Amino acid sequence: MIRFDNVSKVYPGGGTAVKGLHLEVEPGEFVCLIGPSGCGKTTTLKMINRLQEPTSGTIYVSGKDIMKQDPVQLRRGIGYVIQQIGLFPNMTIGENIAVVLKLLGWPKEKRRQRVDDLLPLVGMDADQYRDRYPGQLSGGQQQRVGVLRALAAQPDLILMDEPFGALDPITRDILQAEVKQLQVKLSKTIVFVTHDMEEALKLADRIVLMKDGTILQHGTPDDLLKRPADEFVERFMGRYRPKEETADAGIRELMLPLGGRDASRPDPERCPSIEAGCTVQEAMRTMFVADAALLTVRDESGRPVGLLTRERLVERLNREQGQEQNQDQEQIS
Ligand code: ADP
Ligand code: MG
Repeated sequence: MIRFDNVSKVYPGGGTAVKGLHLEVEPGEFVCLIGPSGCGKTTTLKMINRLQEPTSGTIYVSGKDIMKQDPVQLRRGIGYVIQQIGLFPNMTIGENIAVVLKLLGWPKEKRRQRVDDLLPLVGMDADQYRDRYPGQLSGGQQQRVGVLRALAAQPDLILMDEPFGALDPITRDILQAEVKQLQVKLSKTIVFVTHDMEEALKLADRIVLMKDGTILQHGTPDDLLKRPADEFVERFMGRYRPKEETADAGIRELMLPLGGRDASRPDPERCPSIEAGCTVQEAMRTMFVADAALLTVRDESGRPVGLLTRERLVERLNREQGQEQNQDQEQIS
């Protein structure tokens, strides 16, 4: 879907923001670019839709060199979501979502139908919200509309730059889940910039860890957690790595026993399942991808041993986050 071939970016009068980048993103993949502030994440993302242009090297989108395409045309085929939502305050929610569709010349009826199909995807009732103005919506709702606007013209590729950075933790958690489910359901390719490892671990099929304009390591969340390429990666991933001796106790301590079977209890055979030995993060990912509030925990032989609720997982993650926030600040800055 995307290929960076030895791409560098030097800002006029500035340093080298991105150095000799090689990167491939497969169709349908959810890739997170992560790393400390100033490491070149936004620059990398913006080069994909030519909001910035590479100083050297070549970027291909769907096999075509982007410098040989009309930038406006290119951008219309790529969704883009940023933190500062940027909805037009004097346009209704419906008009905001359909902005690109109008540019593409879709007739009014078809635009309206598309808006009405999109709003429910993020749990917003079309009749209730279509004609409201952005100022009448909460921050979380506005950001949902921002995501729908990026989806409206059905681009295969969506770029997101810290889209949920300004939201409170609960709203962020909900939107992360919604975006992950949309990506899986609609099989979109997403390149997502974040400096929040928690977010990357929840969402990414592949994480690209950057520092000083280069890639330190890329791989699945599991690769980075279990096989960090060097000390920096190890430190960056530090608090998320499974603690070998406690991983098993971790999930087991959180889960609820199965107990006796009666009709009011969920059937463990009908819930998505995880192994008791997996990490809290892996459990969270399974929940996100399956859009489940409940998981069955199985032992090594596959036998159900307990149930894990979303509340207990979130509670645990929040507790860890509180304890280690200071450490985090040091690592990110
Ligand atoms: P990140 O998104 O990882 O925080 P950026 O891609 O925004 O990093 O920035 C990478 C480097 O390029 C930083 O040193 C930043 O100061 C510099 N930079 C970013 N945008 C510009 C610009 N428009 N002009 C000059 N320098 C810039
Ligand atoms: Mg940035």
